[in-house]
Amino acid sequence: MNKHIVDDARRCLQCKNPLCIQGCPVETPIKDAIHLLLSDGIQQAGRLLFDNNPLSIVCSLICPQENQCEGHCILGKKGVPVHISAIEQYISDYYLSLYKPTAPAQGQEQGKAAIIGSGPAGITIAFYLAQKGHRVTIYDGNERIGGILRYGIPEFRLPKGILDRLGHALAGLGVKIRPNTTIGASLNLDELFRDGFDAVFMGTGVWRPKKLGIQGESLGHVHFAIEYLRNPDVYNLGGRVLVVGAGNVAMDVARTALRHGSSEVCVACYGEESAVTAQPVEMEYAKIDGVRFIFNKAALAFTEEGALLADTRAVADGTRAVADGVGAVADGTGAVADGTGATADDTRATADGVGAFELVPGSQQLYPADSIIVAIGQGPRAVIVSSTKGIEVGASGLVVADDSGRTTRQGVFASGDVVTGARTVVEAVRRSRQVAGAMDAYIRALRG
Ligand SMILES: Cc1cc2nc3c(=O)[nH]c(=O)nc-3n(C[C@H](O)[C@H](O)[C@H](O)COP(=O)(O)OP(=O)(O)OC[C@H]3O[C@@H](n4cnc5c(N)ncnc54)[C@H](O)[C@@H]3O)c2cc1C
Ligand code: SF4
Repeated sequence: MNKHIVDDARRCLQCKNPLCIQGCPVETPIKDAIHLLLSDGIQQAGRLLFDNNPLSIVCSLICPQENQCEGHCILGKKGVPVHISAIEQYISDYYLSLYKPTAPAQGQEQGKAAIIGSGPAGITIAFYLAQKGHRVTIYDGNERIGGILRYGIPEFRLPKGILDRLGHALAGLGVKIRPNTTIGASLNLDELFRDGFDAVFMGTGVWRPKKLGIQGESLGHVHFAIEYLRNPDVYNLGGRVLVVGAGNVAMDVARTALRHGSSEVCVACYGEESAVTAQPVEMEYAKIDGVRFIFNKAALAFTEEGALLADTRAVADGTRAVADGVGAVADGTGAVADGTGATADDTRATADGVGAFELVPGSQQLYPADSIIVAIGQGPRAVIVSSTKGIEVGASGLVVADDSGRTTRQGVFASGDVVTGARTVVEAVRRSRQVAGAMDAYIRALRG
């Protein structure tokens, strides 16, 4: 065992009222896990963490711990918090190596559930339902399981071997995985019910890139973040890359581009540094990796040579904010002129609820770039809801579901990003645990 893990575990005060647990969306029982670890009970510690959150090993690596468990640890008030993520990672990694799942015997299953999507939401539901004795089948449009964990978050932050280990654990529980199968395209939801599934879960996430809606967005050297991250190896971005948008996804894009050979990667943010929506730690890592930042810049148009950027400044009157994307002036009111150049005469820009900005007249300049990557968020695709009936969606296309995941169609449940919009892994796990309980109860009631 790494010495620093033990040293850190020994620093834990075993608080009567552990703030670390209160700070965690899934209330990870880290205090008890630490106690077990230090009393020769690493296996029990691992089981405790896994039963609470089957994605504990993933969360230990990519949760924003500084806002959650570690950010709440009492020791952090005056000094350094317990390094909870490293301890959780060590225990969970050990436990996953020993985990010996057993599948229910053929014919002994409680019921039959279909899970669409193998991201954090779908994987969580699959573990809980399979452990409760249901026969579970996962469908995913991709060839491998993991969703964003595999096709979005870069390898240097989350080694993909972990997802393969989770896949083996699911297979051990008898979960069938049907890859390369997009529900709503080759099969639809009605056909799943026809074939005897008692309940269907939708954990399809948000995979439609949001657009700036500006001239030049369809050019060959302009890409969307979520599409680029799917397989960065197939892109030849060139040396100079501009990333438009400054959230966590933009940081992943910028750091990935540097690791794939681009020499100068710059992130353009519509506002000041305080308007960056990425976690401070993600921005810090990006800077360490060599990513440059330019602030108060709005993209007006893209040309073959690069991006036309205008300066922005904050305005007091937020009611003038327009457009859907961050950093864009895209409301058709004349901010983008004719493709040969752009005008900043409209002077309105947006910060999507974070604050309002206006363009500084006459400030537009070409930022030369070999490639541009637009990283301003994702929304849901409509492939399932448009191929069946009865599943209500909200104005932004997100599936309407109650706290137990019940959608407006009987027997269809949903959680994760497709319900909440883009959030975090631990949030998808939190809601999906609850939904798994509701699905289990629904199937049992149905089967009498
Ligand atoms: C680049 C990036 C980095 C991120 N970094 C972090 C981080 O560090 N920490 C963190 O906590 N969160 C992070 N997030 C957010 C987190 O990954 C998501 O909140 C989480 O993955 C949502 O889980 P999900 O199961 O709802 O959806 P997803 O992970 O999106 O999985 C949905 C799955 O459904 C499949 N699917 C979709 N439609 C269909 C269909 N019709 N038929 C079959 N299959 C379908 C998809 O192929 C996919 O496998 C990041 C997100 C991105 C984009
Ligand atoms: S708050 Fe910190 S010190 Fe207290 S139990 Fe949690 S990890 Fe240990």
